[in-house]
Amino acid sequence: LCMMEKFEPVLTPEELRSKLPDWPYFIVDLQLWDKHTQKEKGKVCLQINQCYGLLRDYFTGSELAVTWAGEEFRKMFHGPLDRITVYDGPTAEFLKEKKIDEVVLLDPWADEVLSEKDFDVKAFIIGGIVDTGGEKKLTPKIGEELEKAGIKVRRRKIVLKGDILGVPDRINRILGIILKMMVEGKSMDEAVYEMQ
Ligand code: SAM
Repeated sequence: LCMMEKFEPVLTPEELRSKLPDWPYFIVDLQLWDKHTQKEKGKVCLQINQCYGLLRDYFTGSELAVTWAGEEFRKMFHGPLDRITVYDGPTAEFLKEKKIDEVVLLDPWADEVLSEKDFDVKAFIIGGIVDTGGEKKLTPKIGEELEKAGIKVRRRKIVLKGDILGVPDRINRILGIILKMMVEGKSMDEAVYEMQ
């Protein structure tokens, strides 16, 4: 018992972040959750759990935020809900609470390619979307929602040798590519190859 009393209580993601440098948030936006089948929802959850694993390798894991996270997500997510930032409301509200007014939205339909000039933002948004084939134009909707709420959105795509073909579109792979570029200083092509 004496030994146990010496252990620090587990910090909430909020407390942990307040002790750490100003790392950006990596937000998975679940506003299109209800458009998914149960099987797809399961895949979204798994990919978010894999995002947590990746972020824990580089940072702490608390930088991972999931917005529009309803009851069903909480039930279906097998990862550590208490180690990530889970927010029930809209992404724009979360950003306003954190006093973040500009973000990078990872969007395969964007005109501009992500570059290191974009690594100064305080939040990166990835669509919590699973759609095999990926031909539906869904991610731009997330950008429109944010802009309507007054958030400045830099829409950026990830390409391999100039093309989005060959870029894995799983949520965790996209996060992995950003982290390899941002933290390890790899080029986009190198990062994409390593995450394929
Ligand atoms: N058809 C969907 C769409 O309209 O975007 C594909 C969604 S993809 C499976 C899931 C998320 O990964 C997207 O919302 C986006 O944030 C990110 N993503 C996938 N491929 C990307 C790429 N080449 N560049 C930037 N972001 C990408």
